[in-house]
Amino acid sequence: MVASKPTTPHVMPMISSPFSSPAAEPPYLANLNEVQLAAVKATEGPVLVLAGAGTGKTRVLTTRLSHILYQNKAFPSQILAVTFTNKAAGEMRTRVSSLLGDQPVEGWWLGTFHALAARMLRRNADLVGLTSDFTILDDDDQMRVLKQIAEAEGIDVKKSPPKLLLALISRWKDRGMRPQDVGRDEGGLAADGKLATIYAAYQNRLRTLNACDFGDLLLHMLTIFRDPANQDVLSGYRNRFRYILVDEYQDTNVAQYMWLRLLAQRDNDDTPPNICCVGDDDQSIYGWRGAEVGNILRFERDFPGAVIIRLEQNYRSTQSILAAASGVIAHNQGRLGKTLWSQGDMGEKVRVRLLWDSDAEARVISDDIEAQRRQGRPLSDMAVLVRAGFQMRAFEERFVQIGLPYRVIGGPRFYERQEIRDALAYFRVVMQPADDLALERIINTPKRGIGDSALQNLHFLARARSLSLHDALQDAMIDSTTRPAVRAAFGQMANNFARWRGLLGTMPHTELAAQILDESGYTAMWQADKTPEAPGRLENLRELVNGMAEFESLPAFLEHVALVMENNAQNANQDAVTIMTLHGAKGLEFGSVYLPGWEDGLFPSQRAMDENGITGLEEERRLAYVGLTRARHIAMITSVANRRTYGNWVQAVPSRFIDELPKGVIDYVSELRPASSIRPSAPQWSLSGFANSQSSSSPATPQYVAGQHIRHDSFGDGRIVHVSGQKLDILFEDGSQRRVMAGFVEPLDSA
Ligand code: ATP
Ligand code: MG
Repeated sequence: MVASKPTTPHVMPMISSPFSSPAAEPPYLANLNEVQLAAVKATEGPVLVLAGAGTGKTRVLTTRLSHILYQNKAFPSQILAVTFTNKAAGEMRTRVSSLLGDQPVEGWWLGTFHALAARMLRRNADLVGLTSDFTILDDDDQMRVLKQIAEAEGIDVKKSPPKLLLALISRWKDRGMRPQDVGRDEGGLAADGKLATIYAAYQNRLRTLNACDFGDLLLHMLTIFRDPANQDVLSGYRNRFRYILVDEYQDTNVAQYMWLRLLAQRDNDDTPPNICCVGDDDQSIYGWRGAEVGNILRFERDFPGAVIIRLEQNYRSTQSILAAASGVIAHNQGRLGKTLWSQGDMGEKVRVRLLWDSDAEARVISDDIEAQRRQGRPLSDMAVLVRAGFQMRAFEERFVQIGLPYRVIGGPRFYERQEIRDALAYFRVVMQPADDLALERIINTPKRGIGDSALQNLHFLARARSLSLHDALQDAMIDSTTRPAVRAAFGQMANNFARWRGLLGTMPHTELAAQILDESGYTAMWQADKTPEAPGRLENLRELVNGMAEFESLPAFLEHVALVMENNAQNANQDAVTIMTLHGAKGLEFGSVYLPGWEDGLFPSQRAMDENGITGLEEERRLAYVGLTRARHIAMITSVANRRTYGNWVQAVPSRFIDELPKGVIDYVSELRPASSIRPSAPQWSLSGFANSQSSSSPATPQYVAGQHIRHDSFGDGRIVHVSGQKLDILFEDGSQRRVMAGFVEPLDSA
């Protein structure tokens, strides 16, 4: 998302009113209830619409935008409208033009915080030492710059990887903090305590490069606005934007909030600003990325005289779905609390299915999607919303297998992820040594000191002797023009590949795959990586190996992957099911919503709970609320008893959120057969580099009480903090607290 170059200020003709009589109510107001209508018409002064999911907040915002234009209260270029995603901005654009009778509306300031700030910065770049054609760096570029700086500072980039430093610096930027606002030791232990110094050097370097990163877009604008020397710039925008509208206000971070406040205030004037923010504290799900739900709670204080409007009628979901969502979110403390009702049908109950494993889960969900499709519902009205990216694989596999078109939104498809492509490249070279592209991809991943010139040299050798790159490795090992270190690296690669190839057919292919990832150092590379994405990447790698178990050999698996990729390309314009994360689904709605993986540890996520305790758990619960409230008619939650993770079957416990669903509105079916009869045999391999866990089943389960010490096969020793039936909350010695089934622990002492 890079904003276009500055254009000359846009002058738009006023929207022509198709109604001669001003008394006539414009048609777009007809589809609103009384309270919504009031929110739309209260165009002057600060307004906060604080309301639950599906109550029409976005509809109010869109209609309000149309109303301001239609009433000739402002030119499109005088309205600042902030949406959460580019997709939402596009939708709003279409909705407003269609409300206004398909008139194209141009020149307006409608988009995400980033897009809008980029546009402003292009016009004022000189004030922060940039020129208007500055570059916006992508992740890779940022990382390269940071790495150089860290190395120049003598930092060990293995211990403090650039990605981690970048994440920490971004958090400062989210909070509106420039290098001069950061105390010397605020960076804690990261980068040997020198994070603040690195931050300053990084900002200087970006300026020399005439570049900025995404966080800078807002940060630079804040710097400009706060400098008394630039008051004319700030006044210019203040006078320009007569109306400000913001969607999903609960997820704004501090920098965004400050930017909005600066723009909304008036120069030497007490007239309250015309700002309208809409949001729902129960849907704040980006705390981990710096969002501050407090912003919504202090609106009244920030904008005295603000009108607070509460919408209570939900138009989206059936009563059952609404009751289920409300029942779950009621377990959060410290919420504002809202009434939410629906005139809609009771609808069918929210389906909760307890299933055997993730294959059964993908099957049950795809069967239901096909059944809906036979009843004439479009696939585009159905979505599978997952908590973690790795969950997507089972669905993608299943959909490809049965020929159901699908689309992955907001992220790469499973097999297109960086770590998956890397792993596949290793497997491809093992199977097909002539696959130069694959070899090139991983020749220096993880880093083995094979730089660009060494690679060029290898290419040269290969061409001269008409060999593949792989076969040229052998020649390069004895080539005197190649540096000894590089020769050694080539030699080790050639040996590894020869050995792995020799193992084909002698051991299960899943085991071999795990061995390749471990011995090549690839697994270790991500284990050493301290960035927030690294754990997810390791999960994806495990899932890759899990998925392979379904195929009889490595070549059969690789052929399958090629088919999946081809299938993806063909699905481009078809009616298709959506697969996306719960986070990405905010603000959207679908007729049928499938919510797989409601198991403790996966959802709520163990990581979120370990890192942020009760705050983390409550953010997870809001995510559950967001997920359920995306559904109009049908919601299906699934939980599996066996998830293959860490290379073994692990017994999973249904999510505590399932227990929190009001019983009257759910249809709970357990499709589990007695465990002994159908327990799948665990694959006889393990990823040595991955944390191993064993699962077992014990026949007679003793009774446990809080305080008792136990041992768990996978998680080690711990103390029971709470018992509810067969579910035990245990504080383990590693500090984690987990919920596990009683059958999976053994007592260490008698209570
Ligand atoms: P979320 O919290 O999920 O962002 P929201 O509050 O923004 O939800 P909208 O997306 O604006 O809600 O509206 C939810 C659904 O209800 C939409 O399909 C919308 O068209 C419909 N809707 C809103 N208001 C009305 C109304 N007055 N009459 C009929 N349908 C309505
Ligand atoms: Mg909305």
